[in-house]
Amino acid sequence: MLSDIEIATAATLRPIRDVAAETLGIAEEHLVPFGHDKAKVDPGYLSSLADRPLGKLVLVTALSPTPPGEGKTTTTVGLTDALHGLGHRTVACLREPSMGPVFGMKGGAAGGGYSQVVPMTDINLHFTGDFAALAAANNLLAALIDNHVHHGNELGIDVRSVTWKRVLDTNDRALREITVGLGGHANGFPRSDGFDIVVASELMAIFCLTESVADLKQRIGDIVIGYTRAMEPVTARQLGADGALAVLLKDALSPNLVQTLEGAPAFVHGGPFANIAHGCSSVMATRAGLRLADYVVTEAGFGADLGAEKFVDIKCRKSGLRPDVAVVVATVRALKYHGGVALADLGTEDVAAVEAGMANLRRHLRNVREVYGIPCVVAVNRFPTDTDAEVARVVELVADEGVRAFPATHFADGGSGAHDLAKGVLATLDEPSAHEFSFTYPDELSLIEKVEAVATRVYDAGQVTWEPRARRRLARFEKDGYGHLPVCIAKTQYSFSTDPTSLGAPSGHELHVREVRLSAGAGFVVAVCGDIMTMPGLPASPAAQRIDLLDDGTITGLS
Ligand code: ADP
Ligand code: MG
Repeated sequence: MLSDIEIATAATLRPIRDVAAETLGIAEEHLVPFGHDKAKVDPGYLSSLADRPLGKLVLVTALSPTPPGEGKTTTTVGLTDALHGLGHRTVACLREPSMGPVFGMKGGAAGGGYSQVVPMTDINLHFTGDFAALAAANNLLAALIDNHVHHGNELGIDVRSVTWKRVLDTNDRALREITVGLGGHANGFPRSDGFDIVVASELMAIFCLTESVADLKQRIGDIVIGYTRAMEPVTARQLGADGALAVLLKDALSPNLVQTLEGAPAFVHGGPFANIAHGCSSVMATRAGLRLADYVVTEAGFGADLGAEKFVDIKCRKSGLRPDVAVVVATVRALKYHGGVALADLGTEDVAAVEAGMANLRRHLRNVREVYGIPCVVAVNRFPTDTDAEVARVVELVADEGVRAFPATHFADGGSGAHDLAKGVLATLDEPSAHEFSFTYPDELSLIEKVEAVATRVYDAGQVTWEPRARRRLARFEKDGYGHLPVCIAKTQYSFSTDPTSLGAPSGHELHVREVRLSAGAGFVVAVCGDIMTMPGLPASPAAQRIDLLDDGTITGLS
């Protein structure tokens, strides 16, 4: 089979204006084209759709991921193509890839095989410039902070307490900890600082939760950049930054429209991390999709314990959006990995390991149905090495849980490989739900109780322990009026626990909260458990060394 980039490069793309008109009924005048195959959709037009009924929202999530990835994005695209191919007006909503992983280890994030969004290279690289706009806005605020201190520090900012970092969209570990303001009087006051990657910024989370320009400005104004010496929070509004940052994000705020390999429409817009942020594409795009189409298929980051939990407890809580059905992606390989098989041996048939690894999927199915109250089906994303016996066993084991599993071959076959899955999703949508949508915890609980609720109900942890400093900070957040916010737990995606090697379905483990951070503009409190990298590094052999530009303009080596 051809590589992802070979398939994507060989595809003939339709003009985006035709895709917009024929699949979503968007007239050309409402598009802001970026070349012929990418366009932003005019926000004024999107606001004019406010009275339209909403389509159904399909949330794609997964079991606990294994290092190579389970194919959530690929399945989101494959399911979109399947529904589109069956004649349903459907749009995918995906995150914009970050260039950090593109040039680092993971490669691109536009799907795979015959289930991709295109133009793949553009989407994976600068795309429509949204990330550049976010970096510019983020760094303008950083400059305004140091400038305020330089010019007399009227607000009395304690430079040791500034938490607002600079960002760029490159994996660059050398910038994690730096000192700014060196070089004497004219260059401001020296302080320790650091860079995060754009997708880890609070501004990215804000961008993806924003409903309108007014909401964007409000959220930017609410950002707490640090504290005064008297420990009063200092906001971006106090620095007069909200208007200018909003200006820099104005155009980026419009959702980006592209197409799948089969000509279905896809919004690719925003892309926050799923650990220190909520990991979902923008509310603006999801809402636009629900007004324009009958079905929106969207992906949450990582597994259902992290990505789907945040989709529910942060994105849905803030926006009022509700998923109508969840698709839990599982692979035979991941089940075997959770059943104790080493990465290198995943290609060998092992039904017993599939059975053992089912403990992981079973827990996610329980959470999706009983904790979040979302009806679900399982998509078995087939890999070439899966045997029929293994796949059949997964379907049986999932049926034992009262859930239907659909093997799907969209990676190899495109949308037709996911027709059974699509029909299963439609059937589930037609049935009365045995469950009622619910958040993991109500707003009224204390921040500590909220973390405990997620830890015990979703992760099956035995107890939550706190670094004393983290607990003190949490008390301060509550005193400052942020106690009503939801929590965003940053921990490894590989396990229900904080130990990435603890596979399967561990219970009774301890969740240790090392640090807490306030994202007042985005509207959540981050509890950091374990080491979470907000500025990744490049591996010894980065993908950047294999990516090339040929004389005819062809890009090679992107995976
Ligand atoms: P996720 O969104 O869960 O991180 P992706 O959809 O990005 O996963 O897929 C991760 C990687 O696995 C990609 O390189 C993709 O091309 C590959 N992949 C996904 N599904 C399959 C499959 N069925 N067979 C082979 N490779 C696959
Ligand atoms: Mg993905």
